[in-house]
Order: sequence, then C-alpha cells, then structure tokens
Amino acid sequence: LSIGAYLDDLAAELKFEFEERQFKFSYQNRTDRDYTVNIDGKRVYQGIRNIIDNAMKYGPEQGLNVMMELYAQKDDICIDIADNGPGIPEEQLSHIFNRFYRIDTERSKDFVSTGLGLAIAKELIEAQGGTISVASTGGNGSRFTIKLPIIERDFSSGKNSIPVKD
Ligand code: ATP
Ligand code: MG
Repeated sequence: LSIGAYLDDLAAELKFEFEERQFKFSYQNRTDRDYTVNIDGKRVYQGIRNIIDNAMKYGPEQGLNVMMELYAQKDDICIDIADNGPGIPEEQLSHIFNRFYRIDTERSKDFVSTGLGLAIAKELIEAQGGTISVASTGGNGSRFTIKLPIIERDFSSGKNSIPVKD
C-alpha cells in the first residue's frame, strides 16, 4: 500500500469532518517520494480514529486544532497526530495505552468511556508491525506518533525484484 496516497485520502476525509464541526484540521505530507508499507488500511484507520476521537473528546469545545504529519525516519514511516488539548501529565504518559486506564479529570467525567481506545489502537498498530507512542508537554497538547516499517522493495511491481543470475 502506498502510505502517501492512503494518508492523503484519509486526511481529506478528516478535514471535511472537522470543518463540519467548526474544528481545524491540517495535514502535511513531508515525504520526498512514495513509500510502500505492508498494512491493513482499515486497521490502521481504526487506530488513527481512536486518537482523533480522543482529541475531539478531551480537546477544547471551541478552537480545537489537530495537525497530522507524514514523514520518513530511518526504516519507518511516521504519522504524527498533535492536538491543542489539555495534554497528558508526564506521570500518566506511560499508562495511557493500558486497558481501562483513564485519567480522572472534570472533563473526562462528561463521557461514557471505557479506557480502551488507546489500548486497542496500540494492539492494531503493533499487529501491523508498527509502534505507537505519545508525548505531551503539560498544557501544550498531546502528540501521538505511529511508526510503520517501510517495505523498501515492492515485489508486486516487478521492477525492484531480486535479479536472477543466469
Ligand atoms: P474510550 O476510548 O474507550 O472511549 P477513553 O477515551 O477514556 O475511553 P483512551 O482512549 O484509552 O480511553 O484514553 C485513555 C485516557 O487518556 C483518557 O481517559 C484521557 O484521560 C487520556 N487522553 C487520551 N487522549 C488524550 C488527548 N488527546 N488529550 C488529553 N487526554 C487524553
Ligand atoms: Mg478514547
């Protein structure tokens, strides 16, 4: 699967959805060329969806701004999803991918949530050979990073296949 084409399409859909709700969504594809990844697009979408849903739930009711970026780093393709929400306290960062883990705040009381969204996202991304991580700096929002291994040679196209000696 071409990750650029895949994420460009996904971003267009998310942008449409955000704008309907008066939220801001921006997307930057910073890759210099096409990269192939071996993923199930539906599953990766579900992982991204769970991150986006959190940004919408825990972020500001007005002025929510989510930024998504695609870039290559070493052998991985990376998808960053950053929001301008309340952020996640440093001491909680290592727990939020655990099943049923929720941070008890005034805001989180408004929602019927189980604390499974990020645990499921982690399982889905890891099942595709990838990783998911989070960074947060207090009140400056949260940034999730999904990394997926690049398949350097796309054997399906034929042109990069292993040369046969005669
Ligand atoms: P569910 O996703 O099952 O409805 P949930 O949203 O509580 O429930 P997770 O998605 O796993 O569960 O998130 C775990 C906790 O991490 C949340 O309860 C919330 O406190 C915190 N959190 C997750 N994403 C963000 C975010 N973007 N900004 C601030 N806090 C977040
Ligand atoms: Mg959630």
